[in-house]
Amino acid sequence: MLRDSFGRVATDLRVSLTDKCNLRCTYCMPPEGLDWLPNAQLLTADEVVRLVSLGVERLGITEVRYTGGEPLLRRELADIVARTAALEPRPQISLTTNGIGLARLAGPLADAGLDRVNVSLDTLDPATFKRLAHRDRHADVIAGLAAADRAGLRPVKVNAVLMRGVNEHEAVPLLRWCLEQGYELRFIEQMPLDAQHRWTRESMVTADEILGLLSEAFDLTPDDLEERGSAPAERFLVDGGPARVGVIGSVTRPFCGACDRVRLTADGQVRNCLFATEESDLKAAMRAGATDDELAERWRAAVGRKRAGHGIDDPSFLQPARPMSAIGG
Ligand code: SF4
Repeated sequence: MLRDSFGRVATDLRVSLTDKCNLRCTYCMPPEGLDWLPNAQLLTADEVVRLVSLGVERLGITEVRYTGGEPLLRRELADIVARTAALEPRPQISLTTNGIGLARLAGPLADAGLDRVNVSLDTLDPATFKRLAHRDRHADVIAGLAAADRAGLRPVKVNAVLMRGVNEHEAVPLLRWCLEQGYELRFIEQMPLDAQHRWTRESMVTADEILGLLSEAFDLTPDDLEERGSAPAERFLVDGGPARVGVIGSVTRPFCGACDRVRLTADGQVRNCLFATEESDLKAAMRAGATDDELAERWRAAVGRKRAGHGIDDPSFLQPARPMSAIGG
């Protein structure tokens, strides 16, 4: 098992398949993009599958989430999903995506064994989308969501980040729209993981504020309090249910004490936390001929060093050198 020194066990593996993205969301990267990892530095599909197999078959991983950058840009994605679905015991397999390309790929990915998707959508307004993401692709995201739903990748979850003065007025319309479509909306507090290092606490719309905005239009009651476990979202029944909304207070309501996540970057580094400042290089070890036993031992040791929490409130907090797009959400 992947147990840290605080007794937490990592069972949820987030695997970034690329650091590239076809959007340029302001809270993630500059309009001109970033210096992408050279292809030779990316794990090959075989290397990804080898490490995921090790995680699932030997280290107790039960959930695999493919992410990026934008994972739909990775050509071998369906093949990687199919090989993941063939593992014993079969893990839950999900995808975090911006939705562009999902209209075409949702069916093949569902056929390959993908169980569900989280799609990022911060606005219902195409003009705001274009301003936020520097690309005119709102319609593609909406079409991707519909395709995911048709393909049975349910519950279709929508992730939204509210930004002060940009889209906070859309909290209620976004929830109303998701309820109409049958999607499960989760608001996520903006975290200090942007490449430009522009995040400020003041510009972040907090979980309290989000709940305040929603409560003006909906009756929210806490749901599944005792069943939350390691889930990052606090879930609320909307107007008595059964529909729900989630609020992920990553910064102001941290859930690190129950964290069960571990990450593998597209260039083969184990990160024991989103905010980790050190990594463990499984790719170099693998390419130097390490055995599965040796890789497993490295992975265990990396998780063993996990800190108690992200420490954003600590005066000594340092934003990781890697931006979110190169870590994997
Ligand atoms: S900040 Fe790190 S420890 Fe806290 S929940 Fe996220 S990954 Fe886990």
